[in-house]
Amino acid sequence: MDAYEKLRVLVSEAVFECEGGKSLSAREVQQNKEQRLWESIYHAKVAGGTMPLLKTLLTSACIKNCRYCPIAAYCDHKVVSFKPDEMAQMFMAMHKAGLVKGLFLSSGIVRDPDTTQELLNDTAKILRTRYGFRGYIHLKIMPGASLEAIVEASRWSNRISVNAEAPNEHRLTKIAPEKSFQGEILPTLKSISEVVMQKRLKFLERIAPIQRIGKGWLADLEEVNEATIPPILSSTTQFVVGAAGETDRELLQTAVDFYRRFNLGRVYFSAFQPICGTLMENAPAEKPVRERRLYQADFLMRLYGFDLNELIFDERGNLPQDIDPKLAWALQNLERFPVEITKAEREELLRVPGIGTETVDRIIKARKEGALINAEDLQRLGVRLKRAAPFLTLNGKLLTKEFSVKEPEPTEQLHLL
Ligand code: SF4
Repeated sequence: MDAYEKLRVLVSEAVFECEGGKSLSAREVQQNKEQRLWESIYHAKVAGGTMPLLKTLLTSACIKNCRYCPIAAYCDHKVVSFKPDEMAQMFMAMHKAGLVKGLFLSSGIVRDPDTTQELLNDTAKILRTRYGFRGYIHLKIMPGASLEAIVEASRWSNRISVNAEAPNEHRLTKIAPEKSFQGEILPTLKSISEVVMQKRLKFLERIAPIQRIGKGWLADLEEVNEATIPPILSSTTQFVVGAAGETDRELLQTAVDFYRRFNLGRVYFSAFQPICGTLMENAPAEKPVRERRLYQADFLMRLYGFDLNELIFDERGNLPQDIDPKLAWALQNLERFPVEITKAEREELLRVPGIGTETVDRIIKARKEGALINAEDLQRLGVRLKRAAPFLTLNGKLLTKEFSVKEPEPTEQLHLL
């Protein structure tokens, strides 16, 4: 097997890793065994567009037996591995050809967490030192890796992350019986958090006066571009959704807890899809809409001032799937509406369905300039009137009288009047 063929296999097996972008689903990967490598380049979301990343494993060997994973030790699969310098060389060839701008590197666990971490760290180190690559590198941290190994990973990467996979010990045991939530995942997240905080403080002291940081840590991927240098560091984690029978409330409760305790930049959700040859090959796939609702709820809590206890869950602890969580909350809290758009506080505007954070900023600016006259003005500022109109008044008048909801989505039709 040549290097190109090996890489194609490893890219296809990194299917559950995610970073806010669109990659091929497990089903698509299986259906497209012959796909060309560049067709499965991962496009991570960044400010103003996407960044093409080589998202791959370093090896498909693993000593663990996670029930959903196609490279688990019990799986009958061809083991393919790169040495760190081979991977670095392959990446640089793709980078020079303009195919990718960054690397997202994960791995099966060979021998033990630190041995594996060393291989990942070496790959990044070679890219930085031998090839002078200054772009984006995201390294996975192996659960149970030592603090020293995590510190070393942080020297060469822009982002480090460990996959939590499930929201608690009980759920993790169902999909990864050899892993320990308390004994491996939480201590690794804690070490990552300490390393990231240290790194950020050093970065701030050395380079950036606090006043210039503006809206928060520079370390979010959205802030990363090709000129970004390695000392900028952030951390994330990821849950597999729907594999362990967990509820949305469990996932979001743990996400809130992780943001608070471990200063994570983001939590990612990856809808479970069964893969042939794994112990869970006959388990039902999770619907993509569930993943989308979890992201929406996560955004409401991080950016819109919502508390977990305000979100609407069904009796089993899941978010409604037919309407988004903000609309679900608004329909349960009709006494808070309509909101007068010319006077409402920022926090009130953020609660209106169909109005996003940037639109709120634009509305406040337009108000100061006296530029809010009619429904068209609101549309121009980004208000999704089809969604927002029933919740708003403009200069005392209900907007639904000025704006007719022409084609309501059947499952989301609003009846407020
Ligand atoms: S640790 Fe589990 S999920 Fe990770 S590669 Fe190994 S078997 Fe797969």
